Amino acid sequence: MPNSRVSDMDTTIVPDIAAALNWARARIEASDGRILLRHVLQCAAARLVAHPEVRLEVPEWEQFQVLVERRAAGEPIAYLTGEREFFGHVFMVTPAVLIPRHETELLVELALANFGDRRGVRVLDLGCGSGALAVTLARELPAPEVTAVDRSRDALLVAMANAARLRANVSFIQSDWFGALGSDRFHLIVSNPPYVMSDDPHLREGDVRFEPHVALASGPDGLDDLTAIAAQAPHHLEPDGWLFMEHGYHQAVQVRGLLTDAGFASIASYKDLSGIERVTGGQWLGRQLDDDRD
Ligand code: GLN
Repeated sequence: MPNSRVSDMDTTIVPDIAAALNWARARIEASDGRILLRHVLQCAAARLVAHPEVRLEVPEWEQFQVLVERRAAGEPIAYLTGEREFFGHVFMVTPAVLIPRHETELLVELALANFGDRRGVRVLDLGCGSGALAVTLARELPAPEVTAVDRSRDALLVAMANAARLRANVSFIQSDWFGALGSDRFHLIVSNPPYVMSDDPHLREGDVRFEPHVALASGPDGLDDLTAIAAQAPHHLEPDGWLFMEHGYHQAVQVRGLLTDAGFASIASYKDLSGIERVTGGQWLGRQLDDDRD
């Protein structure tokens, strides 16, 4: 840590909690400073408030300074602490996976609304990333059979670790969408695929800069992967099965169109807590493919 980067205190003197938080506040959001110090000290929020006079150990102070500087350089908090909460559970995250988003909990809500009282449902999570969706559904649905696929080996390793940590029974398969699934069929398919326009300036801003590009961008209009999934899903759904896909704030009309083209029924879009149409889904009645085979 070059001393030229710290102006307001001598960083060779190990501070107490209050002084460490003060030092951080000059560089990053105060709330981020508290999260990072809690991570270093492995303590509850209350301890920072109750014991501001406790002196840090030298390695703790060094680790804290490194994390604050990395945050000041833009790295997402979730990659610095290695975790993010989703639907009430803490998931391990690394830069190999997208950081779970609050709005993606809508996919869990829709799955529970449609299948919450049905035992043994076969569920597929396409592009599982950290495993937030697959692991949550494995825990929340009654005795489901959950399969999760991702194209990225490194993402699958993170998802497997999360399933183990949270004691969720999930089968993981490395697969580019349905590519490795053969003729398997499911009652429910959920996906939070990449859906950002490849030249969207949002990709070069904030936390998103540090996330895997392949988990975010999907062609000039952001619809490449949503299109592929909608078209192939009928071959992997049981009759009356459902597909729910997350998409961008301006894509609901197009995604309803994709499901219409693929022959889905009961097509609807659902709003997230910000009032944005964030998920679109439909039911596969199973007739058209049978007709095709005749
Ligand atoms: N909602 C995310 C974002 O805008 C994108 C997630 C995704 O592409 N699946 O950063």
